[in-house]
Amino acid sequence: MTREEAQLMVRDAGLRLVKAGLTAGTWGNISVRIDDKLMAITPSGGEYVSMRPEDITIMNYHDGSYEGKKPSSEKSLHAAVYVSRRDIHAVVHTHSTNASVVASARREVPPVLDDLAQIIGPTVRCADYALPSTKKIVKTTMKALKGRMAALMANHGAICLGRDVEEVFTCCEVLEKGCKTFIEAEFWGGAKGINKFEAALMHQIYLKKYSKIRINSK
Ligand SMILES: [Zn+2]
Repeated sequence: MTREEAQLMVRDAGLRLVKAGLTAGTWGNISVRIDDKLMAITPSGGEYVSMRPEDITIMNYHDGSYEGKKPSSEKSLHAAVYVSRRDIHAVVHTHSTNASVVASARREVPPVLDDLAQIIGPTVRCADYALPSTKKIVKTTMKALKGRMAALMANHGAICLGRDVEEVFTCCEVLEKGCKTFIEAEFWGGAKGINKFEAALMHQIYLKKYSKIRINSK
């Protein structure tokens, strides 16, 4: 993928995130892997609605050097994902409502729905609290993401991963719906999760069979 294609993809993803109600204002950030060292990432503090493709920052995820505007404050978290998860090509960090509610209760989301288990994994962990934009938040979030496509971040929000942009969106939507379901089911006598073995199996089947990779690392 070229830098320009990645910048356009990130800009469009930002608009889509606002339209889907998964973020508001300047909160949250999006990135796409370009190749084995670069990513395109939303700049720090910009409004998604007025962002142009050329406003999207190009950053080296190994050494943190960048071209263009100052990258998003959670750039180190995006970088850590691309360094350690070679299958991941798109990352979204959101403060979506229901994910934030569960993250503030610091609860792990059990596999309450089939699609949650398939797309994210057998549970959605909540990373231990750490101040935003710190090395500690990268460490706690990466730990919570192990073997998962999403994680909650205590008292903050969530992070979703995708093997392409479509998948990261599906992940954000499924996480938000799963968190809403979990919250409401807790009120209706307590959420009952799918057996963890079956949930893990569903996730593996989804990863292997029901996926199309549209973004190639070139
Ligand atoms: Zn945040």
